[in-house]
Amino acid sequence: MHHHDDDPAALAALIAGGGTVAAFTGAGVSTLSGIPDFRGPEGLYRRLDADRIFDIAGFRADPGYFYTQAREFIYGMGDKEPSLVHRVLAGLERQGRLGGVITQNIDMLHQRAGSRTVVELHGSPSWHACPDCPGRAAFAAVASLVRAGGIPRCDRCGAVLKPGITFFGELLPSGALERAAQLAGSADLLLVLGSSLVVQPAASLPWLTLRAGGRLAVVNRDPTPLDGYAAWRGHDLGAVFARLDALLGTGAA
Ligand SMILES: [Zn+2]
Repeated sequence: MHHHDDDPAALAALIAGGGTVAAFTGAGVSTLSGIPDFRGPEGLYRRLDADRIFDIAGFRADPGYFYTQAREFIYGMGDKEPSLVHRVLAGLERQGRLGGVITQNIDMLHQRAGSRTVVELHGSPSWHACPDCPGRAAFAAVASLVRAGGIPRCDRCGAVLKPGITFFGELLPSGALERAAQLAGSADLLLVLGSSLVVQPAASLPWLTLRAGGRLAVVNRDPTPLDGYAAWRGHDLGAVFARLDALLGTGAA
């Protein structure tokens, strides 16, 4: 199917226009780094039962199931590299043009690309917490253990550690939605990237930008419910961000 993309030079002009810019990213940004979208039609959803893997009651009953199923697609993420989109966003923040990134992703790639202000709506495996005491462990240590077939335990009390990812049946991380709403609501331009905007509450964030008088730029392969409200619309993230890198000199390529 052919999609018309608006002129990237017009998007670059919007970004460089001097207003406050924020970004909201979904799975489409991470697929460029080779991380499958487990909700997408070609994603892991067909091979892995995400509803069961990320069920908090199931995790508490049998954490070994989670750690076995997640061995590759969570604990192999350390081998993935940030994409051009991650790197351009980090470059825009360094230039003072981007106030921050709100992400639905749990792959830590924005931080690894150099972004400093990142709101992770669904948490992150960067830390694993003990349910029974203040014990914690960082991703790298847990990942090497899990990839060798182990289950991470608290080094203080021995309880099984839980990743800082938000499971089904859990509340979003404390403060994340408030910080995201603040970023979206104060943006003159919100870049909506690689998300089909169907999962709540994330899908409501662009409306905060619109209601406050800001504009949206939407780059997503598939249609989104906000296409009719977007000041700029594109479909090919890789192509759009290659042009933005050249036009705005983010030094990401
Ligand atoms: Zn503990």
